[in-house]
Amino acid sequence: MKLAINPDEVKGFMPSEEGEALYELVNRLDVPGPCFEIGSYCGKSSVYIGSACRNQNRVLFTLDHHRGSEETQPGWEHHDPDTWDAASNAMDTLPFLRQTLHRAQLEDVVIPIVGQSRVVAQHWRTPLAFLFIDGGHGMEPALDDFRYWTPHIRPGGTLAIHDVFPDPKAGGRPPYEIYRLAMASGMYEETDAVGSLRALRRLT
Ligand code: SAH
Ligand code: MG
Repeated sequence: MKLAINPDEVKGFMPSEEGEALYELVNRLDVPGPCFEIGSYCGKSSVYIGSACRNQNRVLFTLDHHRGSEETQPGWEHHDPDTWDAASNAMDTLPFLRQTLHRAQLEDVVIPIVGQSRVVAQHWRTPLAFLFIDGGHGMEPALDDFRYWTPHIRPGGTLAIHDVFPDPKAGGRPPYEIYRLAMASGMYEETDAVGSLRALRRLT
C-alpha cells in the first residue's frame, strides 16, 4: 500500500484494517470507470480509495453535504467540536477534507462534490467501477443511497458498504438492511468482509 500520509492523522471513522481493504478492492478492479464515495467527512477513507485510484489512473468522486450525520451533531457521541462552524451555525467538514487531500497529494485524483446524495444522484450519468456507501445511517438516507446510486455500478464493478452490523447490539441497522437488499436482489456476490465493511461484485 502506497499512501502519502498516515490516514490515522485524519479525523474520521475508518479503522486501518478496513481502509486497507478498500485500497486493495480498488487496486484489483478490472472494469473501467471512476470510483464514487458517499460520505467524505474529513477524507480518511478517501485517502485509501484515492491512493489506489492514483495507481490505476482512475479518479474518485467523493460526495458529502459536509453538515454531518445525526450521530456527529453536537451532543451526540461522535461530535467533534473542531468541525463546528460558528458563522453558519452548523458543522462544516469541507475545510478538513480539502486539507487532507492537499496533504495526501490527491487533489488531482479526488474530486469533492458538495451536496445531498439524493439530489446529486438524480443528475449522475457516468457508469461506476466502484461505489462506496458510507453516508447517512438513518433508514431513509441509506435506502436513498441504495436506490439512487447502485444502478450506476457497472457489471463486474464493486459495491462496498460500511458499518454493516448483522448483530443489532453492535450498531445501527440501515447499512445492514441495504446490504441484505443487495444480496436478495440476486445481482451481487459477496467477495470480501473485513470488520463492518462488505464488498459485493455486481454480476449483471
Ligand atoms: N468515510 C468517512 C466517514 C463518513 S461519515 C471516513 O472515512 O471518515 C458520514 C458522512 O455522510 C458525514 O460527513 C455526513 O455529512 C454525510 N452525509 C450523511 N447523509 C448525507 C446525505 N444525505 N448526503 C450527503 N452526505 C451525507
Ligand atoms: Mg462508516
